[in-house]
Amino acid sequence: MNEKAVREKPKAEKEAPEAPRGMHDVLPEDWLARERVGTLTRKFAEFYNFTRVETPLLEDADLIARAVGPDTDVAEKELYLVRPKSGDALALRPENVTGIVRAFAEHKLARGAAFQKFWHSGPVFRQERTVQPGRLRAFTQFGLEIIGTNDPLYDAELILIFWKVLEELKLKGLVLKINSTGCRICRPAYMRQLQSYYKNHADRLCDDCTRREKTSPLRLLDCDRDDCMALKADAPSFFDKLCSPCSTQMTGVLEYLDETGIPYSLDNLLVRGLDYYVRTVFEIGIAGMPGEELGALAGGGRYDYLFEGLGFKATPASGGALGIERVVAAMRLQDIAVVPKPERRIFVMHVGELAKKKLLQLMEELRTAGILVDEALSKDSLNAQLKFATKDGSSIALIVGQKEIFEGSVIIRDMKHATQETVPRGRMVEEIKKRLK
Ligand code: AMP
Repeated sequence: MNEKAVREKPKAEKEAPEAPRGMHDVLPEDWLARERVGTLTRKFAEFYNFTRVETPLLEDADLIARAVGPDTDVAEKELYLVRPKSGDALALRPENVTGIVRAFAEHKLARGAAFQKFWHSGPVFRQERTVQPGRLRAFTQFGLEIIGTNDPLYDAELILIFWKVLEELKLKGLVLKINSTGCRICRPAYMRQLQSYYKNHADRLCDDCTRREKTSPLRLLDCDRDDCMALKADAPSFFDKLCSPCSTQMTGVLEYLDETGIPYSLDNLLVRGLDYYVRTVFEIGIAGMPGEELGALAGGGRYDYLFEGLGFKATPASGGALGIERVVAAMRLQDIAVVPKPERRIFVMHVGELAKKKLLQLMEELRTAGILVDEALSKDSLNAQLKFATKDGSSIALIVGQKEIFEGSVIIRDMKHATQETVPRGRMVEEIKKRLK
């Protein structure tokens, strides 16, 4: 639209600007719960020997499409594309695994170790068709990747960590669903079975599934349209068609989970929305409690062929991601309060311009001594400042006027009892600390 057209738009039509659809501002009151999830996930990651890797928000669009699968919703419809002035198209990352795999190969991160464990956290972007609570277009993932081993022990360890994080957040009704989606040996026969099942119901498939039935039949199990979901219920199961190595791998994961005592349910039709997953796939969500409607809080699986699929040295790997916004939403729905650590702060007030001039440096002294300071110094009247101090909930106030400046003292006021005492400036920090104990 040109500038003139914008200028001439009738007033009534102009709407106040809002955040893009499906994207949210994180406001001060949102941070407490978010930080709780962020701190806990980071603590777990580091405790289980994962080291952090961050990759750029933008990756080569073609690389992403090849990684997640060209037939997936993520590649076909949900990529936010960025066209640079020169060079290939980039996309805002819709997940983090592609970037990590690329970085692992690019920087030769194998480094002769048996395997490597990485964690990552940051925003991802998907242009979801429908936006609803728990289904956003910009959201934040915390992820764990174990690269260089196909031992089922590590699939179980990943699941264990996500489970423990969610448990420690006190979320109720957690359920773990797990499945094997086979490998390139056993998958083709299963896909043929799926194709013949869906061919018999071709008239009920959505347009996407009609197309994908030929090219990528596993995707049909992942469609969220009502008719296709209804058909899924009677689709053939993969369990009895797994080849022997896949079957052993799956049994291995389940045995490790049995040892940990984490309850799971086998879901033989669980596939995930990204094509790179093979063998183990899992999701942790909520059942029978508020938050069920949000879908999976965490999910992941093996991506043993992704490295070679992208032209890198074949390297088995497994990983998973947890959606911070979904977890925070679940905590809210289950009334899980995050209580801020009680912090005692002092409210600094001035009486007169001369005193005000001295207060920036005085507050610096307090802060350097580790004392939390609040103020409303832009207000000139002491009464107005006292009102803000009461609202702030500070137990102690520090008042400085011209007299105190000349005398080299400060007034310490007990806000609750409305009593006050003058103390020498040199003992200010010590006296405040005594009262804040
Ligand atoms: P995925 O990358 O699809 O395996 O998803 C991993 C986790 O990211 C999920 O379990 C969710 O918690 C979160 N997630 C995925 N898609 C969305 C979305 N559209 N909005 C919010 N969170 C999401």
